[in-house]
Amino acid sequence: MNDLYARHRRVLPDWLALYYEQPLEITHGEGRHVWGADGTRYLDFFGGILTTMTAHALPEVTKAVAEQAGRIVHSSTLYLNRPMVDLAERIAQLSGIPDARVFFTTSGTEANDTALLLATTYRRSNTVLAMRNSYHGRSFSAVGITGNRGWSPTSLSPLQTLYVHGGVRRRGPFAHLDDEAFIAACVDDLRDLLGHTRPPAALIAEPVQGVGGFTSPPDGLYAAFREVLHERGVLWIADEVQTGWGRTGDHFWGWQAHARNGPPDIVTFAKGIGNGASIGGVIARAEIMNCLDANSISTFGGTQLTMAAGLANLTFLLEHDLQGNARRVGGLLIERLRAVAAQDPGVREVRGRGLMIGVELTRPGTDRADPDRATAVLEAARAGGLLIGKGGGHDTSALRIAPPLSLTVAEAEEGAAILESALRSTQ
Ligand code: PMP
Repeated sequence: MNDLYARHRRVLPDWLALYYEQPLEITHGEGRHVWGADGTRYLDFFGGILTTMTAHALPEVTKAVAEQAGRIVHSSTLYLNRPMVDLAERIAQLSGIPDARVFFTTSGTEANDTALLLATTYRRSNTVLAMRNSYHGRSFSAVGITGNRGWSPTSLSPLQTLYVHGGVRRRGPFAHLDDEAFIAACVDDLRDLLGHTRPPAALIAEPVQGVGGFTSPPDGLYAAFREVLHERGVLWIADEVQTGWGRTGDHFWGWQAHARNGPPDIVTFAKGIGNGASIGGVIARAEIMNCLDANSISTFGGTQLTMAAGLANLTFLLEHDLQGNARRVGGLLIERLRAVAAQDPGVREVRGRGLMIGVELTRPGTDRADPDRATAVLEAARAGGLLIGKGGGHDTSALRIAPPLSLTVAEAEEGAAILESALRSTQ
């Protein structure tokens, strides 16, 4: 055990899950690459969905942050905050939500907490619908709507939560239905739940489940849900913490694959929008955003520092059409990985959109998840110079691939080749 790992183990909580048998210390990065403390260079196929949406050490963001840090960082909300107003205006305009208001937080967890505060207050109900296998954060209320048991560390909750089918279809009673029948069955399940409960405040859902293993419901599922919810005044909250800003290539927001009848009532976002600066937030119609009974305030949500990072990052993202890049390069990568999967009986599925790609591993000839192989592939990929993630439901059997959105075709090819040999060496 290296010294830093030993110190980590002594002073930090046991429930912080680290990747790798020999945990990795990353010391710096550039573009789509990062370096370990021992000088090893890795192609980063996972950091894109975590901190770094665009590119590591993006000069435009570094410069904006340094300039702002040298000028002023003060309370986010007690005084007029120009970078906050600038970024809020741009996000409101991009959101597709009419009369949108934006509130900034410091994380995805806090964004979802705030969305729940708004929805439960607006509807005067603390009953919430969430999806099976979902992940929404680590606070008391976010854990209370997280359906993924592996990330739900307490059974206590301030909310009454009912879990809805639809996020995953690989297992369970709906596994063999086609798209249309699956949607109809999930809608029936939702209607049934609504018939037997107090009127809920909202349904919260990730358009593509992130921690759950990049599983996508059929396009249109949430549009069908929305019709049922709207009949009863129940709000729809889209958790775009992983799917926003063009990651899925075809759409700027994940909910747009379900947009037949308009945007969600509330959208939450976080992770890479600050390209390393901690920005989360909530977007909602003014009527919902302004429903709180008293004033509220935030010291760090939307500081001038993080807003400067967000503005520089968003400008880069839009000016370089990184959504289009995610569609093109992600499309090539998915194609390449499907060709590899065709030769590997332990790969059940390569799924995804844009640069959000899941590779589901099962024991050959069965439908049983293969979490041990997922761990082995992660190790083998690292040994080959590639960082990927893993995820899944009750078992962690999906590889997760989510590079920064500026990934080049050559880097996609390089990563696919490393992954191919990692898969081969673990068959
Ligand atoms: N929602 C989703 C969909 C997430 O994937 C995450 C983080 N994995 C969160 C919320 C929580 O975000 P944070 O870690 O910034 O609190």
